[in-house]
Amino acid sequence: MALRYSNIKVYRPESLEEALTILSTRKEKVRIVAGSTDVTVMMRSGTIEEELLDLSGLRRSLAYIGASGDGVEIGALATYMMLLSNVLVHERVPLLAEAMRTIGSPQIRNMGTLVGNVANASPAGDTIPPLYVLGADIVLEGISGTRNISVDEFFLGVGKTVRRPDELITRIIVGGQPPGSRGFFEKLGLRRAMAISVVSVAGLISLDHGVVADARIALGAVAPTVIRAPGAEGRLKGEELTDDVMWDAAEAAARDAKPVTDVRGTAGYRRMVVASLVYRGLSRVAYELEVAGID
Ligand SMILES: Cc1cc2nc3c(=O)[nH]c(=O)nc-3n(C[C@H](O)[C@H](O)[C@H](O)COP(=O)(O)OP(=O)(O)OC[C@H]3O[C@@H](n4cnc5c(N)ncnc54)[C@H](O)[C@@H]3O)c2cc1C
Repeated sequence: MALRYSNIKVYRPESLEEALTILSTRKEKVRIVAGSTDVTVMMRSGTIEEELLDLSGLRRSLAYIGASGDGVEIGALATYMMLLSNVLVHERVPLLAEAMRTIGSPQIRNMGTLVGNVANASPAGDTIPPLYVLGADIVLEGISGTRNISVDEFFLGVGKTVRRPDELITRIIVGGQPPGSRGFFEKLGLRRAMAISVVSVAGLISLDHGVVADARIALGAVAPTVIRAPGAEGRLKGEELTDDVMWDAAEAAARDAKPVTDVRGTAGYRRMVVASLVYRGLSRVAYELEVAGID
């Protein structure tokens, strides 16, 4: 079905096949719309194309959350509110839930989708650092087939991904948090809510006999894509989570960052914020592991 609002043509497919057929013919001429929280901003700023592919007719097949191995599978139309009310999400990927709770407002979380956040490819997208540390596959479907792309190979730069114009992200498969591990998500914006992150950080720590067996840390808004912090991760592995080790790792994360100066903050300020958010997150994890008696 195709409607026309003033000079914008809207396609509203009722099946995945119909959506993929429209994408295969209209390609970059058509803009996919899920919850529309980012697309509405684009329309207001006049940067939108003349054709929209509204996915709302596919809710029955794409608005779902399911188990996948030890993790979760998230359909393209699963909203934040659906995800935050889902037991599997809280049990298997509490770190992702922690990040999603900070997004926008209840209205934005009612409409916005996790897949839309990923497809938008902003380095400040708050769900992306957790997906880097949890491990996730982005599933792309077109009429000629399906591709699974690891999240750390999906983004090419600000607003750029490996998705081809005739492909739809149909789902994201997120790895589950290892038993006994603890995660953290911290962000700083210019105000406490409804603000793009100036810096965001996510981490996932597992201990073995009191020392860090695995440490994964990802940084948002300090490079053209979300990045891992290999210096910080290397400083933590094999060490006890003492205050000195956590500060060293936080400072290493600041060196791993590649920030630029923009309207929201200078590069130097962003590096300092990375260090303090990583330290805060690690301290919280160390405390939670101690209280839970996990070593
Ligand atoms: C007031 C406000 C506050 C916000 N606060 C935050 C915040 O705190 N943190 C944060 O990270 N973001 C925030 N956002 C941004 C936004 O809400 C998120 O990025 C949201 O997750 C986008 O999802 P959506 O379903 O609305 O996507 P849409 O707006 O429908 O689409 C976003 C982009 O993804 C593409 N797209 C959508 N679905 C698919 C698909 N299945 N396959 C391929 N491409 C697709 C669209 O073409 C478009 O380019 C905020 C936005 C607003 C307006």
